Amino acid sequence: MLYNQVQDLKGTIRVYCRVRPFLQGQTNGQSTVDYIGENGNIMILNPLKHGKDARKVFSFNKVFGPTVSQEQIYVDTQPLIRSVLDGFNVCIFAYGQTGSGKTYTMSGPDLTTEQTWGVNYRALRDLFQISKERADVVKYEVGVQMIEIYNEQLNGLNVPDASWVPVASTQDVLDLMRTGQKNRAVGATALNERSSRSHSILTIHVYGKELVSGSILKGCLHLVDLAGSERVDKSEAVGDRLKEAQHINKSLSALGDVISALAQKSAHIPYRNSKLTQVLQDSLGGQAKTLMFVHISPEVNSIGETVSTLKFAERVA
Ligand code: ADP
Ligand code: MG
Repeated sequence: MLYNQVQDLKGTIRVYCRVRPFLQGQTNGQSTVDYIGENGNIMILNPLKHGKDARKVFSFNKVFGPTVSQEQIYVDTQPLIRSVLDGFNVCIFAYGQTGSGKTYTMSGPDLTTEQTWGVNYRALRDLFQISKERADVVKYEVGVQMIEIYNEQLNGLNVPDASWVPVASTQDVLDLMRTGQKNRAVGATALNERSSRSHSILTIHVYGKELVSGSILKGCLHLVDLAGSERVDKSEAVGDRLKEAQHINKSLSALGDVISALAQKSAHIPYRNSKLTQVLQDSLGGQAKTLMFVHISPEVNSIGETVSTLKFAERVA
């Protein structure tokens, strides 16, 4: 097979790795990231091992180091947004242990400053921008839906029945999300806790009508902030905590199985094994495009999770 064809086949699934910087007050810490190469390679140094076992290289489509800005992170995502308006389905995932920067990548630390906006708001901004540019040719309608998957159950995040809400600007979506946060009975800390153990999916549904031909374009963008991938110690977790952990493990490995089956062009894609893969079935595989940001924390005490995150990501890459 020609090199180009191989590239095309693999072109629908991309995996990018992002390394979180040390948090304030910990800047002198020893990093487990030894080296970031130019071609998507990252070398991890495990201080608990010696000799040649201590270093291991992982390969992805790209690796973003700790100083890479939100804007730079988004550059390669932009063409995917355009393709949603062309009628393609796209999934963008954030994977990683709790505290590794998933929400930072997807939403950003602070909605008030556009400079630190994450992928979600930049995607929406571009979506509305491009649809305006095309207004003479295509009439677009945009709706959003926010859902959470917790313990293999689907819940609407901001609207009662997880229904579609029509929106006309990024501001509409921001307002919707703020209202949703306020409406929730739980406080900020509890929300954070809960969000680390549930998958949250912001879906943007685009419906376009070509003015001259009357033909219809339907595209869908799923922005998925996954539950924390950390392994919960089975001997310590009991009751609800154990149940949550089992559901998370199950759905993340089901997601890994689906993406790696797609990457290998396998005849059978096991969508039915989790709620997450069922919900996203129409947007994984076929003509759909997938981008996964895998996040790692640089601290030495995260080395176990870092290695298992990178192994998971290499399997789907
Ligand atoms: P997760 O969603 O994976 O649990 P967060 O996105 O909440 O992790 O990030 C944990 C902390 O690290 C937050 O305080 C966040 O602001 C900070 N952080 C994460 N990624 C970055 C980054 N690239 N640059 C600066 N701070 C970051
Ligand atoms: Mg988070």
